[in-house]
Amino acid sequence: MTMPDLKLISINSGSSSVKFSVFGFSGIKKNVILSNIDRVLLCKIEEIGTEYGYFYLKDKNKIESKKQNFVNHEKALHYILQKTNLLKDDKNGKIDIVVHRYVHGGKYYLQPLIVSDDDIKKLAKLNDIAPLHNPSNLKGLKVMKSLLPGAKQICIFDTAFHGGIPLHAKLYPLPIEYAEKFNIEKYGFHGISYSFVAGLLKIYDKKIKKAVICHLGNGASICAVKNGKSIDTSMGYTPLEGLMMGTRCGNIDPEVPFILKKKLNLTDDAIKEILNKKSGLLGISKKTYDFKELIKQKDKYSKLALKMYAYRIVKFIGQYAAALNGIDALVFTGGIGENSDRLRKEVCVGLAYLGVKIDDGKNTAAAKYFQTHDPFGRLDVENSVIPISGDAALSASAVKVFAVHTDEELQMAFESINLQK
Ligand code: ADP
Repeated sequence: MTMPDLKLISINSGSSSVKFSVFGFSGIKKNVILSNIDRVLLCKIEEIGTEYGYFYLKDKNKIESKKQNFVNHEKALHYILQKTNLLKDDKNGKIDIVVHRYVHGGKYYLQPLIVSDDDIKKLAKLNDIAPLHNPSNLKGLKVMKSLLPGAKQICIFDTAFHGGIPLHAKLYPLPIEYAEKFNIEKYGFHGISYSFVAGLLKIYDKKIKKAVICHLGNGASICAVKNGKSIDTSMGYTPLEGLMMGTRCGNIDPEVPFILKKKLNLTDDAIKEILNKKSGLLGISKKTYDFKELIKQKDKYSKLALKMYAYRIVKFIGQYAAALNGIDALVFTGGIGENSDRLRKEVCVGLAYLGVKIDDGKNTAAAKYFQTHDPFGRLDVENSVIPISGDAALSASAVKVFAVHTDEELQMAFESINLQK
């Protein structure tokens, strides 16, 4: 078997989960295109540190999934590397690059970073501005650096895609010295996903200049994209701002946390816990944060949670359609955005005033397609961007609507290969 010129691991190390993909690339490392990169292995570990651990692995020959508990990230990552023989350089070829998803890059990291020892100390300082995300990204980085000391470690930042948001959209209307002294401003997140989707849209249809992209997963945000660049986004200084999410409240009256603190006699940490972990779909439904489970429920709170969720998305899309002065395309991505035809339909019905018309048959078929396809091998652009808007003579949509399967790990591999000389 011929070995690829470059072998990469992309890692998304979350607080209790790790998504891990291995890619191979052969050829000239300049102006690489997404569809020239081969995914040779896909692995997910969920519920790290709990008794509900779950392991999934897919490679060319097999799919394996089982319940398995891991006490921490180190044990989980060591297990994957050992199981896939990636710790042994001779058997599967040396890993050249490990690329890490890094959620918050602050003001400083607007480009991919080839990590030095000094950078690890600098990255640790960013833990404070994204305490729910950055510490687990850093943990993944440190573990992989010690397990594969010969590989180049690269970080790609979710905030980087939003670095060009203009000041009038970026600033909060607080006394301006807080922005100037403490960098309190909108950073935005899900940038790796938005870069991937915006890149695919450009390949798919060059005429699309103004798009609203909705990344709807456990965390959810919306981005206004003009000529491939973010001009505004719903998450802010932290990933708590914006849409209602699985467990996060998104936008609320900023006075409310102070009122709750007083009424319930709570600490700041307890308030943060409520806003980040007990609100959103979970808080309203009182049942679950998980969209797929929630749509099976029939009680009034679950129905209300779903209605609020869609309503808030419709409102944000309206804001961004206004900010862009009209849109050519609307895109749904992320676990909910890709898989829930029901949510897409409900949102699009609320956007009839923009001339959005959805084709029910295409919408349902797109959800079925994504539910049965794992991203493997090479990216097939035609099957990753699925048009779901009406195009028949009498029901043509004024805005092109798409469901797109996002692939943050592939985007990270792509950006890393393009960094190589
Ligand atoms: P994360 O933000 O953790 O990466 P994902 O992008 O994987 O999250 O999205 C997870 C969300 O997608 C969950 O709420 C899950 O229930 C939802 N989801 C997954 N599959 C489906 C489906 N078939 N129908 C509706 N929702 C789904």
